[in-house]
Amino acid sequence: MTGIDDLPIRDELRGKSPYGAPQLDVPVRLNTNENPYPLPEPLVARIAERVAEAARNLNRYPDRDAVELRTGLARYLSRTAGLEVGADQVWAANGSNEVLQQLLQTFGGPGRTAIGFEPSYSMHALISRGTGTGWISGPRNADFTIDVDEARKAIAEHRPDVVFITSPNNPTGTAVAAETVLALHDAAQDARADTAGALVVVDEAYGEFSHRPSLLPLIEGRPRLVLSRTMSKAFGAAGLRLGYLAADPAVVDAVQLVRLPYHLSAVTQVTALAALEHTDTLLGYVEALKAERDRLVSELRTIGCEVTDSDANFVQFGRFEDAHAAWRGLLDRGVLVRDNGVPGWLRVTAGTPAENDAFLDAVRELMKETS
Ligand code: PMP
Repeated sequence: MTGIDDLPIRDELRGKSPYGAPQLDVPVRLNTNENPYPLPEPLVARIAERVAEAARNLNRYPDRDAVELRTGLARYLSRTAGLEVGADQVWAANGSNEVLQQLLQTFGGPGRTAIGFEPSYSMHALISRGTGTGWISGPRNADFTIDVDEARKAIAEHRPDVVFITSPNNPTGTAVAAETVLALHDAAQDARADTAGALVVVDEAYGEFSHRPSLLPLIEGRPRLVLSRTMSKAFGAAGLRLGYLAADPAVVDAVQLVRLPYHLSAVTQVTALAALEHTDTLLGYVEALKAERDRLVSELRTIGCEVTDSDANFVQFGRFEDAHAAWRGLLDRGVLVRDNGVPGWLRVTAGTPAENDAFLDAVRELMKETS
């Protein structure tokens, strides 16, 4: 039998495992930060209509620059995120993972480095590796906030080409203050003052769930600051694969150098446009999920768990002597949560009220059993 390592793969991929949460068939799945609400029927009908229209032209390549979609996304951000942006400031790709990959292909790469403050979204490190970008693990406080002085020190020491700031952070749920982003942005530019500076990527995949306003306005006058967003969470469209960024038009021009031609299918573009037509309904679900998230935080605390303040659609809870055993204990009770490998902690996604009740019951039982 031929194994991966028998093949002539790149040295840095040897012995590594692919990213992925277990996809187990259990009654309550709260492990991948999905939106539990299926798209509303009128939107499903509208998608079918627009896809049928698009199907009549599938013999042609799609709009390579996705102008109509970028215009729609720019309008959405302008209306909801506190800064008027134009289509020339917005770029879209197949999930924000592809957006991040395009950014690393453009601004990272062999001989360059990226830093993130861990624990954080592990794909930042993995996409760095996949693009040949060196990875630097930056520090966080014990309460999972970013220590500005320590972060500044790490940036000054390592002089990264790309800085990732995830707000709200995954898996902790922690939001980052605008002043912190600005401090790290300035530190990154200072550290690379001898070059054309550093790219700072604010990953706001969970931005719509935050108690705080979007960090989008910070891109104004800062051409090296990029905001990354997704339709996977707030729009309840993880299956669609649509992520986007907002930045200076020069950044949008720069990623054109690496994007594959026609990377966004015509079906993807019209489906995303249909979802944007139903923004208000979908943001209504976000409000319901935020309330459920806040309920999870307070009920978990009542049960006696430690809980990290959350601005996302998930909650980090613990602390368990053996987090993996606790994960298993919940799975045995039909509830799948996520063990991200943060010692002592697990992460649960806010589901429907019934799913959250089932989860809370399982935690209560587990705590009784182990106390
Ligand atoms: N950023 C963060 C912080 C995430 O948690 C995720 C999804 N888990 C993504 C980006 C990627 O999402 P997608 O590719 O579905 O847009």
